Amino acid sequence: MGIFINCLALIFSTIIVLCGISYFLREKNAGRLRYFMLIMGVFGALWSGGYGIMGFAETAKQAELFRTVGIVGVVGFMMTEALMIAYMIHLPKWLYRVYVTAFGLVGVIDLFFFIPDHHDFVRIDGRMCYYATNSMARKIHSGFLAFVTVTMLGMAVIWVCKKKTKREASYVRATILSNLAILVSIIPDTILPLLGKPSFPSSAYGMFLTYMITWFWATKFNAFSITVSNLSQYIYESANTAILIFDECFQLVLANCYGHRLLEIEDVQHQDLTELFQCTQEEADQLLASVLRENQGVAELVTQKGGVSCSLNFTVARDFQKEPYCIVCFVYDLTKEKNMLCELLQANEAKSQFLANMSHEIRTPINGILGMDSMLLKECQDEGLREYAKNIQSAGQSLLSIINDILDISKIESGKLEIIPTRYELFSILNDCYNLTKVKIEEKPITLHMKINENIPAKLYGDEVRIRQVMNNFLSNSAKYTHEGSITFGVDYEEKSEGEIWLIITVSDTGIGIKEEDLEKLFASFTRIEEKRNRNIEGTGLGLSLTKNLVDLMQGEITVKSIYEEGSCFTAKIPQKIIDKTPMGDFDKRYRQYIHQSEEQAISLYAPDAKILVVDDVPMNLIVVKGLLKATKIQIDTAKNGANCLELVQKNRYDIIFLDHLMPEMDGIETLQNMKLLEENPNRNTPVIMLTANAIVGAKEEYMEAGFTDYLTKPVQETLLHEMIMKYLPKELYESY
Ligand code: ADP
Repeated sequence: MGIFINCLALIFSTIIVLCGISYFLREKNAGRLRYFMLIMGVFGALWSGGYGIMGFAETAKQAELFRTVGIVGVVGFMMTEALMIAYMIHLPKWLYRVYVTAFGLVGVIDLFFFIPDHHDFVRIDGRMCYYATNSMARKIHSGFLAFVTVTMLGMAVIWVCKKKTKREASYVRATILSNLAILVSIIPDTILPLLGKPSFPSSAYGMFLTYMITWFWATKFNAFSITVSNLSQYIYESANTAILIFDECFQLVLANCYGHRLLEIEDVQHQDLTELFQCTQEEADQLLASVLRENQGVAELVTQKGGVSCSLNFTVARDFQKEPYCIVCFVYDLTKEKNMLCELLQANEAKSQFLANMSHEIRTPINGILGMDSMLLKECQDEGLREYAKNIQSAGQSLLSIINDILDISKIESGKLEIIPTRYELFSILNDCYNLTKVKIEEKPITLHMKINENIPAKLYGDEVRIRQVMNNFLSNSAKYTHEGSITFGVDYEEKSEGEIWLIITVSDTGIGIKEEDLEKLFASFTRIEEKRNRNIEGTGLGLSLTKNLVDLMQGEITVKSIYEEGSCFTAKIPQKIIDKTPMGDFDKRYRQYIHQSEEQAISLYAPDAKILVVDDVPMNLIVVKGLLKATKIQIDTAKNGANCLELVQKNRYDIIFLDHLMPEMDGIETLQNMKLLEENPNRNTPVIMLTANAIVGAKEEYMEAGFTDYLTKPVQETLLHEMIMKYLPKELYESY
């Protein structure tokens, strides 16, 4: 029996130390708890082992020595446990330090008195044990145990009050209860020797129970600490995203709950990508190759079942040989995003359509105003009235250009603006820009310098209208934001490749300049800079945004430099093809020649025998055309709709027909088609010219394709109208002088 008691104590000792070491090695994320469990395990082993071996001692001296080992174990274990509880309840640092020092002192005092305390060792039932006296040292030892126990219970109470989770509460409860095991087990151990009975290592058994309970709960408690390994499975299963794991041949091997739901997978049985998503084997192979090569990849595919649009994000997991062993794929359901995008696109489309309609609606009356106004200017001799008419003209023109900008921006936003390259002569554009800018700065003390490289190829291939727009936007901004000094309009070029150049447009001014921090806001739509300072200057904030978009569409680049209150310099570099390499020549010289020629060529048209038909649903437009052609004496018939036009063309032969596009019931294009179907039509070969407010670039090509002979935009300009008539009227029908 004696041997059995000793052996049991030794077995407990071994188990405790092994548990302490295993906890320490295993629970790497348990913080200081890991060290406490190890140290408690070691002291517990000394406690149980010391008393266990004491039973096997041969002599009293040996027994004394092992009893000392046991006592060190007792004091060490109790102190470590108390410190562990103090640590777990997060005592303030200073209090923790006071606590550690006090315990250290009490422990040392206990060891100092209790180890040398005298005992009478006897061997009973083959086991070495002792009889103790009720000495001072034993009283101190009992006091030590009481002190540790009470403070530990105090700590436990604090812990209970502070605890946040049920899990923590169970841990506290277990720790308190487990210490009761020590308290109970100490009774026979301490009292028996005092009653004259031989000692019995019951406290070691109690301690074993305490340690094992603490160990079990510490393991359980730590299982919930936040670590990657603890949480990865939880995350995998509960993620609101499908996580699919493919092997290196793109066969599905794992799918989380969301994945099962999204892809409607019943059984993960090595399906390949083509069985899960709508893609061909070739596409899947290509994707696999690229994912393996790049170690990652993205794709957008639609699920086989349910037809859900998904974004797939692949990463390759590699083994220690750096070979792929699986491909992790996150699948995001894009339904919400797609719906949102669709709604946004629809809203944007509606907005663009609205803007386009509005601008068309606004253009029609402006055309009337401007047309009537130009007739006033033509016929009125009163200087005062002419001045008013000129003001109407300039206000009308700027309104028209704003409407045009809005129309262009809405086209760009809906992706409908196309770049339409044609052959053009650079001089003609520069000439127009020069004239326009000169008018704009007429009343300001500003000089306009032209710095045109005379070697630029004379004829180029590109979108003439858009190039003109870019130049005019830069120039009109400089004219607006410069109060005095100069504007320099530079056009240069650089070779790009065979048959292609970079056309470099630079407009610099000595104007108000732009603050450095405002430079990046310049190109945003509807954004004006320093609105307060510029409130007297007309503007919508559309010009530069439009210019930037146009330059981007033409594959060019735009840059701006500016010094606040000193001036700005805008540059656009746009690629253009060369049609004719011949240098354009000196601009000033050509400009002087041009002025001379046009003065000589100023012509008037007179064609009383010519007969034309003008079709437009807006009566004012008909009056404008009639007014502009009054002096030519041309015979003009008018029609207010398509049906009316068809009647007239069957009755009369015309030399030219001008046809409006947007008319109610039958539009211009339909009218032309119907005209061509007429059996009796004396106007089968008559040129039909589209006369429209639709000034969008690309419109001309559309109309020509629809069968029109030419195209003229409203508001109709007198010279252009005359030129157009002369172009298509048989020579014998008109005189020009
Ligand atoms: P806006 O119709 O207001 O002129 P823009 O898009 O053409 O619109 O220009 C945006 C802003 O850039 C203007 O409001 C103005 O503050 C600034 N800006 C443009 N060109 C110049 C310039 N040459 N000098 C100074 N500021 C300029």
